[in-house]
Amino acid sequence: MNDKKSSTAKHQSVETVLTHHGRTPEDQFGFVNTPVYRGSTVLFKTLDDMAGQTQRFAYGRAGNPTTESVEALVNELEGAYRTRLVPSGLAAITIAVLSCLKAGDDLLISDSAYEPGRSFADGFLKRMGVSTRYYDPRIGAGISALMQPNTKAVLAESPGSLTFEVQDIPALAAAAHANGARLIVDNSWASPLFHQPLALGADLVVHAGTKMFVGHSDAFAGTISATEAAWPEVESTRALLGFFTSGDEAFLVARGLRTLAIRMKEHQARALDIASWLEAQPEVLQVLHPALPSHPDHALFKRDFTGSGSLFSVMLAPAPRAAVAAFVDGLALFSMGYSWGGFESLCIPVKLGSNRTAKPWTAEGNLFRLHIGLEGVDDLKADLSAAIQRYTAAR
Ligand SMILES: *Cc1c(COP(=O)(O)O)cnc(C)c1O
Repeated sequence: MNDKKSSTAKHQSVETVLTHHGRTPEDQFGFVNTPVYRGSTVLFKTLDDMAGQTQRFAYGRAGNPTTESVEALVNELEGAYRTRLVPSGLAAITIAVLSCLKAGDDLLISDSAYEPGRSFADGFLKRMGVSTRYYDPRIGAGISALMQPNTKAVLAESPGSLTFEVQDIPALAAAAHANGARLIVDNSWASPLFHQPLALGADLVVHAGTKMFVGHSDAFAGTISATEAAWPEVESTRALLGFFTSGDEAFLVARGLRTLAIRMKEHQARALDIASWLEAQPEVLQVLHPALPSHPDHALFKRDFTGSGSLFSVMLAPAPRAAVAAFVDGLALFSMGYSWGGFESLCIPVKLGSNRTAKPWTAEGNLFRLHIGLEGVDDLKADLSAAIQRYTAAR
């Protein structure tokens, strides 16, 4: 938690915020970065100090200067009231969702949302007496028809990180608020540099900080940014569940964030270049990237986003598993692995099947999700070109 808010920062460019916000060298003997603070016990000098709760830190579980440095920075980027650093992107989703619900309530989740969030709802929340229903990510204002008196939260992810539908955040927010429900948006894809859901009406924004914030595939983190109204339940839920993020992890998030703007710019340019090139390949059925004019949600993307991320999917003509294996097994630069956001390019075949219930995925082709890293674009194209050839030969 950090309630230091610079009155001038709103007028500064995001690059300036990223380089200067959330660090106070004068508190660190002049060292540029807030170092790794490790600690459980925080000492009090007097009984008055202990009873008065006036000390900035009282117990390490509630945070330390390193975690605060990240929270202050992300808070500024999202234009939030408060931001909390939590141990993973999934923890950000589960805490944010739990903060809105009690037994007997109902939750709406986008059919395109991150799959472990679905498992949390269907497995854990169900046991706690919360019902979950899934909605078509392109439902927009139509979500009003799904609202029940006990619907208290809507979880959106825009765009969905496998199928890239863009969601109409202002419409979802209006419908949720009319029903007394909160809107939570997973903003991991665009980062706060290119999309700010709170300004569009969302109540809570979550990030898989593991991805673009960290940027090097070497740490886990999540953030929850909230409006003033939504904040108290977020913080009490986190505190009561005992979630804590270590100074070591926080340091890596802060380090990553300092270069977020230049990394996003490079990831964006490379991903767009490769996405347009793929679109022109005869074997490609479709490229699912919202910044391409061919994307069905391109108008919405242009309305609500100022840039695009590293991640998109490409669909190839139907072919047996052997062709999919030929595509991925022979890749030289793209590696196969979960997560994304690092400097290295990744490719995974996407299996949707049971992940889609409200809006079943009916496309016949094989979907591959690509994270475009910071390698040379021509080298990446050559790798994909060879993969497409292997795929076509194995069909
Ligand atoms: C990876 C991811 C998460 C979860 O983040 P973890 O840090 O791996 O728990 C949440 N949302 C999206 C969109 C993701 O890609």
